[in-house]
Amino acid sequence: MSSITSSPNSFFLKSANLKTNNFTQSPNLKLTYPPKARPVSFTCSSSATQTQTQPSTQIHAEQPDRVYNFAAGPATLPEKVLLKAQAELYNWHGCGMSVMEMSHRGKEFKSIIEKAESDLRTLLNIPEEYSVLFLQGGATTQFAAVPLNLCTPDDSVDYLVTGSWGDKAVKEAQKYCKTNVIWSGKAEKYTKIPAFEALEQNPDAKYLHICANETIHGVEFKDYPAPKNKTGLLVADMSSNFCSKPVDVSKFGVIYAGAQKNVGPSGVTIVIIRKDLIASAQKTTPIMLDYKIHNENNSLYNTPPCYCIYMCGLVFEYLLELGGLKEVEKMNEKKAKLLYDAIDGSNGFYRCPVEKSVRSLMNVPFTLEKSELEGEFVKEAAKENMVQLKGHRSVGGMRASIYNAMPLAGVERLVAFMKDFQAKHA
Ligand code: PMP
Repeated sequence: MSSITSSPNSFFLKSANLKTNNFTQSPNLKLTYPPKARPVSFTCSSSATQTQTQPSTQIHAEQPDRVYNFAAGPATLPEKVLLKAQAELYNWHGCGMSVMEMSHRGKEFKSIIEKAESDLRTLLNIPEEYSVLFLQGGATTQFAAVPLNLCTPDDSVDYLVTGSWGDKAVKEAQKYCKTNVIWSGKAEKYTKIPAFEALEQNPDAKYLHICANETIHGVEFKDYPAPKNKTGLLVADMSSNFCSKPVDVSKFGVIYAGAQKNVGPSGVTIVIIRKDLIASAQKTTPIMLDYKIHNENNSLYNTPPCYCIYMCGLVFEYLLELGGLKEVEKMNEKKAKLLYDAIDGSNGFYRCPVEKSVRSLMNVPFTLEKSELEGEFVKEAAKENMVQLKGHRSVGGMRASIYNAMPLAGVERLVAFMKDFQAKHA
């Protein structure tokens, strides 16, 4: 057992033995976390270090001291992952320090990043001819990095815009090359995806860009357009549906995704790129946006977001333990069906504006027929420990983000609440 005492300017950790996660707090210190540490049982094997053995305990989907967090990102993480990270925080695998304190060039971190990459490769079945990069700057930085790395300023590129993120991507790209919006759903408030055959693509375009899942509008590609450009390149922002279902990576030249929805905390962005596309970036490209530099240095050109990469690694391992992305997809389909059925079966009390065939499995926007009740809906839900249900400020209404880590029980609770709310207000 260890204890923390405080002095006016500092606090000292006494007889720190946090292997058990048990520590008492000084009454002066308003440290309420961890409320209670729970042992966790899933394994994390690393090539360089021995695994810390944890007593096995059944983790229930519904923990009394956690809310159901429907935020769009940063978003809820799997409880098992959080508990494992908690257990490993103070002294990672017996190496005497936390992952936050390790040199990114040391053997411990090397084993962490290599395992994270290898597990991601297994999960998505990423072919050998693709590189995996762990970068910084969010998906927003990739809006610039993609054209800077794949085009000259005179090159043309095609963008299919199905929501606000695709719109932001093309606006950034137009600073670095000649952009062409081949279709935009803006006039229909981004509720649709067009039939691919009807799309007029530029045969000279260097790539066709899509946003695979529009987080704000809840519009998701169920299939992908075949690029009709000379290079045959499709580029996708998969930030909000990354690792939510199997994807045939070989159909894409580049896939990029911020981690903070499905696979980790904010701070790391994953880029999967076909190796032959990693060539010379435009001359003015900042070094931090140059894929070649990051690829040559195995994502360690400068100090990477080590802890975020570690957390993603734990999530990848967890998703593999769930049975891989086919299983994950089945769970996501079940959750989404439950919620969409509740909306569609409400006799118009709730409405989802998105065309049924392209409704997102991840982000479910909905409105109330009596829009004046929306504030109350969000407030009442929060009282029942369901938080972050307010829609994006640009579209209003509600949005439930039900990423991989949202348990089925969370969606069931939301649906029950929606039915009660309707009964009270219909
Ligand atoms: N693309 C999509 C689909 C997103 O949902 C987001 C963030 N919500 C972004 C890009 C921007 O990501 P970041 O904030 O990490 O730059």
